[in-house]
Amino acid sequence: MNNDSTPYIAIGNDELGDAVPDDAGILCMRCGGAHKIEYGKNEAGEETRILGFVRCGEKAYVVTVDGWLVFGSAIEDTERETS
Ligand SMILES: [Zn+2]
Repeated sequence: MNNDSTPYIAIGNDELGDAVPDDAGILCMRCGGAHKIEYGKNEAGEETRILGFVRCGEKAYVVTVDGWLVFGSAIEDTERETS
């Protein structure tokens, strides 16, 4: 593997689930709690929905791509209290 290459991930359409509402929380696959989605920024410093992730402990997990839920992630049930 070329160490100079840019790291990337590839996610196909068949690995994406439901559209994620802007203010949705994501159920954490690690701790079981709900975390707020954080979004990356583009070169102009503006928030972009291309990748959304949640932080749990020292790690960040990709949970949305272009506003769609990544397979294996779950939107928080809004009837429940956010921890
Ligand atoms: Zn967590």
